Amino acid sequence: MDPISPLEQALHAARALVLADLVAGQVAEADVVSLVEESVVERRWWLEQWPDGADYVAGLVAQDVQDALLERYGRWPLCPVCGAGDPHALDVEPELGPDPHWVCHKAGVKVASVGTLGSATGGKSSS
Ligand SMILES: [Zn+2]
Repeated sequence: MDPISPLEQALHAARALVLADLVAGQVAEADVVSLVEESVVERRWWLEQWPDGADYVAGLVAQDVQDALLERYGRWPLCPVCGAGDPHALDVEPELGPDPHWVCHKAGVKVASVGTLGSATGGKSSS
């Protein structure tokens, strides 16, 4: 019957945001979701060492999942802004800070906050 700690709230929010972006990119399969869970477990440890980092967790989980997907599936999330040229992934900025965004370094634009990639891509399907 423990009340939910701020630490768990931050982790829960980070998980929800990154899952929303995975759903938007249509890659939220069971094994991908488990990558998010793995990251959340690691970041729980990290946050226990540094509780002030609660605001940074969403950006960190997003980057963890991005790295894990790159090894196993390929680039994610693909840039929805640049219509032409080589497909490229968005990056999280700031890498360590509050209010993380997906940015395209090629176009030099902020695409969406982490967790709102679905609205940025306008529900366009890549298939
Ligand atoms: Zn781009």
